[in-house]
Amino acid sequence: MKSTRGIVAASIIALVFAGGCSSQSDSTAAPETVHYTEPPLPAKVVPVLPDSPITPQVEPPCGDPTASLRPTGAGGPNIDSIRARGRLLVGLDTGSNLFSFRDPISGTIVGFDADIAREVARDLLGSPDLVEYRSLGSADREQALQDHTVDLVAKTMTVTCERRQRVSFSTVYLRANQRVLAVKDSGINGIGDLAGKRVCVVRGTTSLDRIRHDQPAATILTVPTWADCLVVLQQRQVDAVSTDDAILAGLAEQDPYTELVGGSISVEPYGIGISKGNDDLVRFVNGTLDRIRADGTWDHIYQQWLSALGPSPGPPAPTYQD
Ligand code: GLU
Repeated sequence: MKSTRGIVAASIIALVFAGGCSSQSDSTAAPETVHYTEPPLPAKVVPVLPDSPITPQVEPPCGDPTASLRPTGAGGPNIDSIRARGRLLVGLDTGSNLFSFRDPISGTIVGFDADIAREVARDLLGSPDLVEYRSLGSADREQALQDHTVDLVAKTMTVTCERRQRVSFSTVYLRANQRVLAVKDSGINGIGDLAGKRVCVVRGTTSLDRIRHDQPAATILTVPTWADCLVVLQQRQVDAVSTDDAILAGLAEQDPYTELVGGSISVEPYGIGISKGNDDLVRFVNGTLDRIRADGTWDHIYQQWLSALGPSPGPPAPTYQD
């Protein structure tokens, strides 16, 4: 069940407190200048200094980064140890509307990414409920895999050659596009309008590198999660947010005063992150992804969570390196 109504209500309340509440009922107030108290920036907001180095957009060569390992049906040591434990440890964002967030009624983590992870657990352990979630920010994803504190990362994670130096990926399970979210009628109609504007982006993301590279005249504020970006947009401490359309659609659903603008800035193919060397698990996850592409589960999950992006485009076709 989606939490849309509750979240929208909370967001409207947040907007009212954040700046929508003028003293219009006070007829003695001077009409021309209304002063608002600037709310403090949320903790953990870090501005990007204009002269800080931009990660080069030239990726280290790895051929097609989205080519993964073919499912074989064989087992392996990592699969054995997850089965011995009896639970699949999944790293994700616990506050990402549509992808992985707490259902306000049941308190359980639900969403597109959560459902993909549950399908892996169904095949691996016999039940989709045998999942234990670990909350991760975008910048924590690779470290969690390198430290083996999770078996999988299912968190809107773009497959890149750069990341593949440190972690492995499943085949692509969703293709997103980076775009821009702005307040309706703000005059911002795409990345070209962000010169001289303040833009919120999460640290440790492809979105940050892309916006810095493609719109160097923007002032960037970074935060740990995309939900933090919605708050600073609502408080008018930034003019826009830029990341994947799928994530922005979740924010726009939480705040009807916002909208996605402009075309695609870049294609962002999502893969399940897996610790480097855990090839048996990569092949296993790819087997699950093959199953859900073929048996209609993928379409069902898409329609349940991502219909705001339009009708299902169908699951992305896998590519294999072997
Ligand atoms: N897809 C982008 C990335 O992997 C942004 C998504 C996110 O921060 O979760 O960096």
